[in-house]
Amino acid sequence: MTWDYPPPPESLKVEKAPREVLQKIQSDELKSLIVRTWDHIPFYRERWEKEGLRPEAVSTIEGLRNLPVIYKKDLEESLRIYPPFGNYQGDFPAVRLQASSGSTGNPKPFLFTRSDWDVIAKFWARRFYAQGVREGDILQVVFAYALFIVGFTASEGAMRLGALVVPTGSGAVTPSERQVKIAREWGTTVLAGTPSYILHLADIAEKMGLDLRKDFRLRISIHTAEPMTEPARRAIEEKWGVQAYDNFGSVETGAPTFECEEKNGYHINEDGYIFEVLDPETLKPVASGEDGVLVVTSLFKEAAPVIRYNLEDITCFIEKPCPCGRTFRRISKIKGRISDMLKIRGAPLYPTAVETALEKLPELTREYLLIVDRVGQQDKVSVQVEYRPTEDDTSLIKEKLEHELKIATGLSIEASLVAPGELSRSLRVDQRIKAKRIWDRRN
Ligand SMILES: [Zn+2]
Repeated sequence: MTWDYPPPPESLKVEKAPREVLQKIQSDELKSLIVRTWDHIPFYRERWEKEGLRPEAVSTIEGLRNLPVIYKKDLEESLRIYPPFGNYQGDFPAVRLQASSGSTGNPKPFLFTRSDWDVIAKFWARRFYAQGVREGDILQVVFAYALFIVGFTASEGAMRLGALVVPTGSGAVTPSERQVKIAREWGTTVLAGTPSYILHLADIAEKMGLDLRKDFRLRISIHTAEPMTEPARRAIEEKWGVQAYDNFGSVETGAPTFECEEKNGYHINEDGYIFEVLDPETLKPVASGEDGVLVVTSLFKEAAPVIRYNLEDITCFIEKPCPCGRTFRRISKIKGRISDMLKIRGAPLYPTAVETALEKLPELTREYLLIVDRVGQQDKVSVQVEYRPTEDDTSLIKEKLEHELKIATGLSIEASLVAPGELSRSLRVDQRIKAKRIWDRRN
C-alpha cells in the first residue's frame, strides 16, 4: 500500500481530484495489491498461474481485465477444501474476523489486518461526512453488533469524525421501546440502521404516544445492509423529519460507496476500489450506462482482498458528472440480484420491482409471497400480500395494487389479499434474517 487513505474532510481533495490523479492512485495501488497477493494468497495465485498469467502482466488497469472473475461458490469451495478459513485469506497478521450474513448457505469468514480495518473505518467516516454528520453529533447505531461487519465499522467511522457513538445495537439486545427512549432522552441526532428497523422504531414511537418531529432532535438517518427503496426513504424522511441516506457495501468489500447530498446513486471510493459492470454471461464490459453485474476489486485490503469478485448485483454506471463536484464515479441503486431474478416469458423479473409496487400502498404491510406457475405453455405470476386492519373495501386495494404491479414490472400479476398477521406467521418473518418470498412452482 503506497497511498495513505485520507479521512474527511481532507479526503474531499481526492474525492474531487481530476481523473488522471485517480487513475494514477488506482494503478499504483493495483500493482502493490497484485504483487502481495501473488506472494501471500494461494487462492488467487493458483488461479492466475493456471491461466498462464504473471504478476507483471496483470498489474495494470487493462491487465486486470485478464484476471479470472471470482464467484461466491469459489470461496465456498475454498472453505470446504481448506477449513476453517479457506485459502483466500493469506498469511497476513489478521486481528479481526467478520462474516457474511449467510443469506445463502453458511456464513463466509473474512479476516482483517489492522490496516484493513483502519481504511474501512475511514471510508465509513467519508460516508458520514458526505451525509452531514459532524463533530458533536450524537449517533445512535441500531445495526446489529455481530459477525456481520456493519455495526462495528459504522461506530469506528463515526468516532473518527468526533461524533458521540451510542451503540444500542439491534432490537435483540436493546428492546425497541428502550431504543426510542434513549434516542429521546439522550438527544440522538443521527440514527444508523437498516431502513426497515428505523421504520419499525417510528411505529413504536408513535405507539408510545410520542411526536416524532417534536420530541426528538434527529436530523439524519443513515442506512445500509438492506436495499432502501425510494418510497421507504420518503417514509423515513416524512415520519422522522430527517434526511435519509443509503449506502451500498458488504462484508467482502467493506464500505466501498456512499450517497452524497444529491441522493442519486452511490459514489465509489475509487482510491480503494475498482468497480466493473459486466455482461453476466460474456463477462465483457457492457456499453456505457447499460445494466450488468457488479465485479469489484478492493485495492487496499491485505487479508482476504477481493479481486474481480462478482457480487451478482445488477447495476449500471451513472456517467453524468455529479452536481456535488466529486469526480468519484457513481453506480445506480442495485436493481436486483442475479440469483433472485426470475425469467417470466423470457423477460427478467426482480422481486425488488414487486416491493416497489407494494410500498406505494399504505394499506399494505411489507409482507408478501410471490408465486410463479406454469399454466399450459404460459408463465403465470401471482402475489399474496398482507393488508393492515381496515374498514375500506379490500377489492379496491386489490385493484390499485394490480395497477401498480403492472407499472413496476410490466406484467399482469394477480394479487390476493391476506388478513393481517397471517403471512408473517406462515413466512416466520420474526425468525429469519431474510424471509423466503418467492415460490417458483414451474418445475
Ligand atoms: Zn455527488
